[in-house]
Amino acid sequence: MLEFSGIPRPERLIDENGRRIDGRRPDELRPIKMEVGVLDKSDGSAYIEFGGTKVIAAVFGPREAHPRHLALPDRAILNCRYHMTSFSVEERKPLGMTRREIELSKVIREALETVTFLEEFPRAAIDVYVEVIQADGGTRTAGLTAASLALADAGIPMADLIAATAVGKVDGHLVLDLCDLEDKYGEADMPVAMAPRFNSIVMLQLNGRMAIDEFRRALALAQKGINEIYKLQREVLKRKFSELSPEEV
Ligand code: UDP
Repeated sequence: MLEFSGIPRPERLIDENGRRIDGRRPDELRPIKMEVGVLDKSDGSAYIEFGGTKVIAAVFGPREAHPRHLALPDRAILNCRYHMTSFSVEERKPLGMTRREIELSKVIREALETVTFLEEFPRAAIDVYVEVIQADGGTRTAGLTAASLALADAGIPMADLIAATAVGKVDGHLVLDLCDLEDKYGEADMPVAMAPRFNSIVMLQLNGRMAIDEFRRALALAQKGINEIYKLQREVLKRKFSELSPEEV
C-alpha cells in the first residue's frame, strides 16, 4: 500500500456519514486562529493556525533597497521568503532552502504583488518572511494569508487583503481546506488565493486531476472558505487598530 513519511493511507478518507478523517464535513474549514502584531522587531507580523498548520509572517520595510543597483526607479522591490522550519514536518527537513521553498517564495511574492501599492515606494524594498512552524497541509495558503495580514499590520498600502485556502478531491468527494493526509492520499489538491474585494483570483495551482464540472464546484467551494477567512482577517485587523490611540495609528 502507498505510504508517505511512514504514515499509511487510512482505509477510508471519508466515512459512511460523509465525515472526513478529522471529523469535518466536506465544506468545513479547520479551526482558525489569527493574530497580528505578534513580533516586536519587525514592522508588521501575523500568526495563523489552520488546524495543525501553524505559520508566522513578518514584514520589514519599506526601507532603502540594498544593494543599491537593484533598486527600481518606479516602485519598491518585494522580497519574499517562504521557509519550513526543520521541526515543522514528520521527517526533519534539511537545513537551507529546497527547490519547493524557492518556488513557493516566488508564488507567494507574485500573489502579494497584485494587491500591494509598490509604486508608492520607488527605490525601496519590502521584505516578507513566512516561517512554517508546523505543517499539516495548506502551508502556502496559510503563509499567503498571514503575509497579507503582516503587510497590512506594517501599514503598507494595499488594494485588498489576500485570503487563501486549498480545495481538493478525496475518495471522490470535493473537500475544503485539506489536511496533510488528505493532501497526500487524495486525488487532487488545488490551492486558491483571492483578493475577495475584487473577486479576483491571485493564485491557483492544481496538483492531480479533476473534471471541468468538478473544477467549477471546487472553485466555488474555495470561494466559500476564502470569504470566511477574509471575514476573520478583517476582524483581527479592526480589533488591533481600534485598540490603538489616535497618535499610534
Ligand atoms: N510536507 C512535508 N515535507 C515537506 C513538504 C511538505 O511533510 O518537505 C507536507 C506538509 O504537511 C505540507 C504538505 O506536505 O503541508 C503538503 O505540501 P504541499 O507541497 O502540497 O504544500 P502545502 O499544501 O503545504 O501548501
